[in-house]
Amino acid sequence: MSIHARTVTGPTHDSPLTTHDSPLTTHNSRLTILKLTLLGTGTSQGVPVIGCGCRVCSSTDSRDKRLRSSALITVGHLNILIDAGPDFRQQMLRAGVRHLDAILLTHEHNDHVIGLDDIRPFNFRSGQPMRVFALPRVAAEVRKRFEYIFGRPIPGLPRIELIDIEPDSRVQMDGLSIQPVGVQHGKLPILGYRIGDLTYLTDVKSVLPAEMHKITGTKHLITSALHHDYHPTHMNLNEALAFVETLTPEYAWFTHISHQMGRAEEMGTQIKPGIALAYDGLEIDF
Ligand SMILES: [Zn+2]
Ligand SMILES: [Zn+2]
Ligand SMILES: [Zn+2]
Repeated sequence: MSIHARTVTGPTHDSPLTTHDSPLTTHNSRLTILKLTLLGTGTSQGVPVIGCGCRVCSSTDSRDKRLRSSALITVGHLNILIDAGPDFRQQMLRAGVRHLDAILLTHEHNDHVIGLDDIRPFNFRSGQPMRVFALPRVAAEVRKRFEYIFGRPIPGLPRIELIDIEPDSRVQMDGLSIQPVGVQHGKLPILGYRIGDLTYLTDVKSVLPAEMHKITGTKHLITSALHHDYHPTHMNLNEALAFVETLTPEYAWFTHISHQMGRAEEMGTQIKPGIALAYDGLEIDF
């Protein structure tokens, strides 16, 4: 199977999920397919970069057009977003998202949070505040950056309910269970997320040994790979490849990609068997 194809690898009678692995606690979990859609796979400046005429930024290949990194988890009627960066509005429109139940933040950098003001249409339609799950430090930073939201209630402002989580918390929502994973973005501790057989990590430089048990045995790994050169706070391609080799997932996709990585076409359909650069719009069923 080409890993660029949409993959359907939900649980079957031959490969039952254990209670420990199951992201769903409802009795019909075996019948429910979870889907993750990569809404953006670019690094903080996006691809193309403003004003850049390099061969990647001038490529006409749709896989070389990368909005800022974000992912949508869909299970049944539930839509859960990971990160809301500067392209949030465009991503919601492009993916046709009509409602959003919650947002999980990985960390406070602008390319992961600065789109939060644009949750307003979801507030207006549901009449409810948006639940936003984040580390306490990240939640405090969101309060600071969007101070006007958290003051006296004024009609028309976004409404956010910030919920503090720690790496050892579990996010439970309508029978869905999501495990935060503590990872290091250089010196900054941030979160990734494991949902059943899938792990989503971005802006990762390393995973602390004490957290590795949470992602061991994951079938689908989405993890960041910035470009080819050394970077103090992001894994480069070789580091990401070595990380994938320690985890041995069935499929691995790289995200948070810089224009310096090269064109998608040059990088090949697969970098190694089962490992590829992700692209905007990639859907993974798991
Ligand atoms: Zn980032
Ligand atoms: Zn460029
Ligand atoms: Zn970052």
